[in-house]
Amino acid sequence: MTDKSAPAALRPSPKSHVMEIAPYVGGGHAVPGVDEVHVLSANENPLGPSPSSIAAYQSLAPQLHRYPDGGADALRNAIANRHGLNPECIVCGNGSDELISLLVQAYAGPDDEVLHSAHGFLMYPLAARAVGARPVSAPEVGLRADVDALLAGVSERTRLLFLANPNNPTGSFLTGIELRRLRDALRPDVLMVIDAAYAEYVSRNDYSSGLELVAERDNVVMTRTFSKIYGLAALRLGWCYAPREVVDALHRVRGPFNVNAAAQAAGIAALDDIAAIEAARTHNDQWRSWLDDELSRLGLTVHPSIANFVLVSFEETPGRDASSAYDFLFQRGVIARRMAAYGLPHALRLSVGTERECRAAVSGLAEFCGGGR
Ligand SMILES: *Cc1c(COP(=O)(O)O)cnc(C)c1O
Repeated sequence: MTDKSAPAALRPSPKSHVMEIAPYVGGGHAVPGVDEVHVLSANENPLGPSPSSIAAYQSLAPQLHRYPDGGADALRNAIANRHGLNPECIVCGNGSDELISLLVQAYAGPDDEVLHSAHGFLMYPLAARAVGARPVSAPEVGLRADVDALLAGVSERTRLLFLANPNNPTGSFLTGIELRRLRDALRPDVLMVIDAAYAEYVSRNDYSSGLELVAERDNVVMTRTFSKIYGLAALRLGWCYAPREVVDALHRVRGPFNVNAAAQAAGIAALDDIAAIEAARTHNDQWRSWLDDELSRLGLTVHPSIANFVLVSFEETPGRDASSAYDFLFQRGVIARRMAAYGLPHALRLSVGTERECRAAVSGLAEFCGGGR
């Protein structure tokens, strides 16, 4: 039994920077007492995985006693074929979250700085703190990353700059031209990580996933995921495209079998199912714009999004605020995402769900806003 009265000096104590981490709280998936739950909290693909991914996953069952291919060769080749890339410059991860952590582990340590935009993805400050580095937040303008503010945030101690493009949770993005300006003005010893988790959803021609920037310089990495449009969030699969030196560093810090066999098999199958990707994109375009229209009509502020979610701002009056709206929706089985951890306490994020889920969210909020429906 643990002696709870032992003095602190006689107990193992985690590093102080570890205890400064506010644990990541994911979106919920259940509502007590409600059977039909509409999960709009995690930006998952509401249409589910492609049938070929499911089949590939199931066919793996008799092989579960075997270690996976530690190099994920077939998967890297499939990704390279799909995107016209060099497979040697691809590293796969247990979700792109793992790649974010590995990049920080390899390039930053105590007293180093990791730069991100004010309302950037929460994994960046979290991964920085885990290695004792200091997250530095650059102000945004109108809930959008700002190239000049990011450049002004670079100090002698900056080792990495993370930019989600499009960004979660704001849904905003930097154009290809802005991305290039940021890269060109960035000190060449700072590693610029472009997190393009939602790239497949974007249909604008002024957008760039950053892929071509990786090929041009030694200090740009792009990360991607199978958790969003490919509908494989449960399997944890991500990849990055990086210069050779970065690839080499990542292979040194990653676990030898960091990507499981089911993820590799399902990922390969998902890449081949072009029709499923098209269907997901078409569905998303239609229902994101529907959500935007309907929520705006209710008098709510919907921030322009090019991804598979919308950020919605509420009044600050108690009872009319985001927190009350969250509770109101939750009781009706609609799970939104609270945004206080992102510095946006007056907003909620809603993923684009199925038609039924989108309609449930809108009618819930219509009732909340007093319009009735
Ligand atoms: C969802 C998301 C990811 C994906 O993380 P995985 O670990 O691959 O599931 C990465 N970056 C951003 C900005 C995201 O929103």
